Amino acid sequence: MPTVKESSAWAEDRQRRKLDFEWSLKPMTTLMRCVGIPLDFRDYRQLISDRCSWFVTGFALLLFFIDAECQFSLTATIIYDAIYPQSSNNSSRSATFKWNNSINSINYMVLILGSHAILLAVSQIDWPHLVQVLHRIEQTRFYNERHFKKFRIPSFVGLAASVTELISSVTVIWFAWVDSPFLYQLMVLGFLFLGLVLIAFYHVCILCWIAYLMMNALGQDIKACSGKDIKQCSSQLKLWKATYYLTGEFVHYINCCFGPFLFLLTTSYFVRMTNNSFYMFSILTYSHDKGHEAKVYTLIIFLIKDWISFVALTYIPSLVRKEAMNITRKLQNLKFEDNALKRQAELLRMEVSLSLPQITAAGFFDIDCKLIPTVSPTPRNHLLEYRHSAEQWLSTVNRALEHAANRQAILSWQIHTNRTSEAVKEFSNEEQSRFALNEHLCQLRKRWVMALLSQTQQKMMSRLCHGIRLNEEQTRVLVETSARLQAIYSEAVVNVAGLNYTGESEIKELMAKSQNYSVLLEAWTGWRNAVGPPSKELFSRMIEINNLGVQAAGFSDTSEIWKNELGIKNLEQVVDNLFATIQPLYIQLYAFVRGRLAAIDKTGTVHPDRPLPAHVLGNMWAQNWEPLLPRLMPNATLSGGEEATQVLRRRYSSFTQLVVVAQDFFLSLGFPPLPLNFWTRSQFVRPTDGTKPVCHGSATNFYSRDDVRLMMCGEINEDDFYTLHHEMGHLYYFLAYNHQPFLFRSGASSAFHEAIGDSIIYAAMTTQHRRRLGFLHSDNNVNQKDLEIVNLLRQALVKIPLLPYSLSLEKWRWAVMAGQIKPDQYNRAWWNMKLKYQGIVPPIPRSEKDFDPASKFHIISNTPYIRYFLSSILQVQIFQALCDASQQGPRFGKPLNQCDIYGSVEAGNRLREMLSLGSSRPWNVALKVLTHEQNPTIDARPLMDYYRPLHEWLLSENRRLNYTVDIHEDISVFNNIEDLAANF
Ligand SMILES: [Zn+2]
Repeated sequence: MPTVKESSAWAEDRQRRKLDFEWSLKPMTTLMRCVGIPLDFRDYRQLISDRCSWFVTGFALLLFFIDAECQFSLTATIIYDAIYPQSSNNSSRSATFKWNNSINSINYMVLILGSHAILLAVSQIDWPHLVQVLHRIEQTRFYNERHFKKFRIPSFVGLAASVTELISSVTVIWFAWVDSPFLYQLMVLGFLFLGLVLIAFYHVCILCWIAYLMMNALGQDIKACSGKDIKQCSSQLKLWKATYYLTGEFVHYINCCFGPFLFLLTTSYFVRMTNNSFYMFSILTYSHDKGHEAKVYTLIIFLIKDWISFVALTYIPSLVRKEAMNITRKLQNLKFEDNALKRQAELLRMEVSLSLPQITAAGFFDIDCKLIPTVSPTPRNHLLEYRHSAEQWLSTVNRALEHAANRQAILSWQIHTNRTSEAVKEFSNEEQSRFALNEHLCQLRKRWVMALLSQTQQKMMSRLCHGIRLNEEQTRVLVETSARLQAIYSEAVVNVAGLNYTGESEIKELMAKSQNYSVLLEAWTGWRNAVGPPSKELFSRMIEINNLGVQAAGFSDTSEIWKNELGIKNLEQVVDNLFATIQPLYIQLYAFVRGRLAAIDKTGTVHPDRPLPAHVLGNMWAQNWEPLLPRLMPNATLSGGEEATQVLRRRYSSFTQLVVVAQDFFLSLGFPPLPLNFWTRSQFVRPTDGTKPVCHGSATNFYSRDDVRLMMCGEINEDDFYTLHHEMGHLYYFLAYNHQPFLFRSGASSAFHEAIGDSIIYAAMTTQHRRRLGFLHSDNNVNQKDLEIVNLLRQALVKIPLLPYSLSLEKWRWAVMAGQIKPDQYNRAWWNMKLKYQGIVPPIPRSEKDFDPASKFHIISNTPYIRYFLSSILQVQIFQALCDASQQGPRFGKPLNQCDIYGSVEAGNRLREMLSLGSSRPWNVALKVLTHEQNPTIDARPLMDYYRPLHEWLLSENRRLNYTVDIHEDISVFNNIEDLAANF
């Protein structure tokens, strides 16, 4: 950073520079105004569209060809005269002179008309930009007073050239004026006018010269950074980059304003020089009159002057490009020891070589096909301009998508809260138009060259063609099918022991509460009978249509697109490896649960050596075994689940109060309170007006400022209390990244989105925090070690069974999507997976008439599920990172499960920093922001660390009680669904 003294000197310096540049441009702007080119007539800009610019270019090219045609005729005449000297007489010679005069006249006419037209059109569009860039150059830190002194030289030369041109024009006119007829005098006045235009042209050349000097100054500054520290070098590279782009922008706008103009001018000079050379040649060959010598001398002077102008107009612009190429060489030769710096320099070199400045007239010396499009008045081939246009396009796209997503969220909310056929129809129409919009944008995206865009832009663009692409009919069928599936699920009524249970949440509660195995069996079977069979055909149709959609987008099947979304290479291998790390813990937990249940079971339902039946685990899907805790640890009821629910019911009378308590944890980390919209528009509890909402808890982003909502049929119990934490993780994620462009408003991956709330649950599950909430009495006599084990066991019962559950679910669905499992094998394959990973079997015989996967909401709603597996692992990693931030956990010599981050603003800041990235960076960068590790990957070790005390306890307990531990032997017994059925 500059000192105060330096910066005041810099400010003065900046003032001076401003004058310099204005001074450089003044003669040009004044003269252009004199010849009728109003450079700041902003009203004209509206009139001149892109099409008009193309027309002007076409016109200029046409004039060029007329010139060339004249040139050709003249040459032909002269060659004819040379071959047939007999026929050449005075009359043919005078014809040659006439030709010469007419060509020169046409040339001037072209110049005056064409240049005026082009200047008027082009400068109106881009002149203000050029002026803006000049002002920015005046303020840059890179160019100092020494550089600005150099930039003054071209201005002086330009002034000198202008004066010379003026004097020579006046002299010529003066001689021509004498004894000439009136009409001729008028024509001569026209030439004077042209002289003024030409003076203006010199200044175009001056601008190019200044651009060259700027590039040159930058090139000279690029030297090795050795001896300086890395930070300084890196900021030096950044300064070079900024300066290069600024200079490039300057050149770009010179080209936009004057490119076609330079082209016309150089062509005109070329015609004049050739024409006059032939004229001189013909005088020398055919004319022997003494008076002609003076004419020859005049022509020689004209030729020299034209030649100098021609070289100046073509060579100087070509220097700008050469100097930029020189910069790429210098960057390539830079030697850095640090790898990051090396990459930074290489990136800069690539960017420079991709965006070499191009000025039209330079084409005469530096022939390059790429220069041809620059004849267009608004060339798009400059990298900066290209990216700028891409930026503008993307922001329009983002706005359009945001609007569509907002509409979709509103209509979807309508269906979920109160499903009417009109709402479904409206939603279906909206989905169709949204698919059409996506398709349209995907088509438009193809006109952008990805390699030329910035990384961020590339990332956004790649998202545009992501996902399924359906035609209208397919979209309609898909929307209707999913709506019917969801209706079957949310409206299912199950009768158990004479009582009716509606929807998932009621029956789920029964499964968690009841310990009566026959009631559980009735509920388990009833739910599957109500949901499964009617869903099977609809489900396979949904999979089919989705596959058609993703195949149209170039993927083999939906599973491929789902796997891609997570951005993990070899995902199947990765999840298998992760599961292998966790499996020893699962096996011990499984063995303990089976052993305990078998020991207390009087009915013979649970066998100590056989796989666990699916209905006895306290959960409809056997994915969360927490309700079993009181039976597993009968002596530890004081810290049991029932206790917490009782505490909550005693303290809070409404569910909203529970939401406030859940929010409190986030507030303690420094997060802001949830917005007003959340409190007024969410659905917290089942409505009493008879409407049948989808009660599966979910958080929704409405992609509109501060509109995030929660959908739940919540009740005051421990389970829903922690579900609130989970959903709030989603809500705070939405709010943190809603400032991003729409295409980046999602989680670093869907697994991250699921993990945030649960990492907070880990934090809220510590004994310290449970005591804070009053779930544990501080004066109880329970041994601290026992308390720790009970607490860990409670969490493990929630978290660990979910791992094999989610893995088996998604592996089944991946195979279904890939066509490896056909509809007539759905149920058998499902149970084979369940047995292999979870070690559970159906309690009663199943057949292919049943469709047990449909008992799960995520199957019905076609929501990817492996994210929950990854999230289960990631959330402990995140929790560990937050622990680190609050200076607790293993790195500070404390066990991970005793880390209490409540109230740690440092942890909150680190989390917020990660959340606000949205999906603008890859997931591993987001993880790096959290963990501060160099190359973080998804890692199951923190999870194993967290449960280590429990794992050791389970090992010794299973050994002590002599429980069967290996579940694989059991599994090998059951090869197919008939075998399974035979066991019960
Ligand atoms: Zn979730």
